[in-house]
Amino acid sequence: MNALPTNVSSRVLAQHVDASGTCVRSPNADAWFPENGRPAGARKLCKGCPVIAECLELALREEAGLGRSRVQGVRGSRTPTERYRINRQRADFAAARQSADCSDDVASYNEEIAA
Ligand code: SF4
Repeated sequence: MNALPTNVSSRVLAQHVDASGTCVRSPNADAWFPENGRPAGARKLCKGCPVIAECLELALREEAGLGRSRVQGVRGSRTPTERYRINRQRADFAAARQSADCSDDVASYNEEIAA
């Protein structure tokens, strides 16, 4: 996965996902909401998606500040729990950044998420 496109507007990210997301035209959209709690199938589909980085970044923005129970489905090859944790870590970084300059750490973290 490419680095997360943190400098792209949410509107543009949504346009890219809507235009090219594998799940958008899939006849089996339920695959991204596994009822058995096993995300392997959805992850595999996402890994081949051309907008995986855009999708994950958009999901993280849309879900920032939401409670864990309100985050659903696999997006950007990440489960709801994984995205919830990433957003909590982003919030921690943002709080730390206000008290100290750690912009290099934030950039490194975003690259780590995308790996
Ligand atoms: S990364 Fe996965 S959830 Fe996101 S648009 Fe692509 S197929 Fe859909």
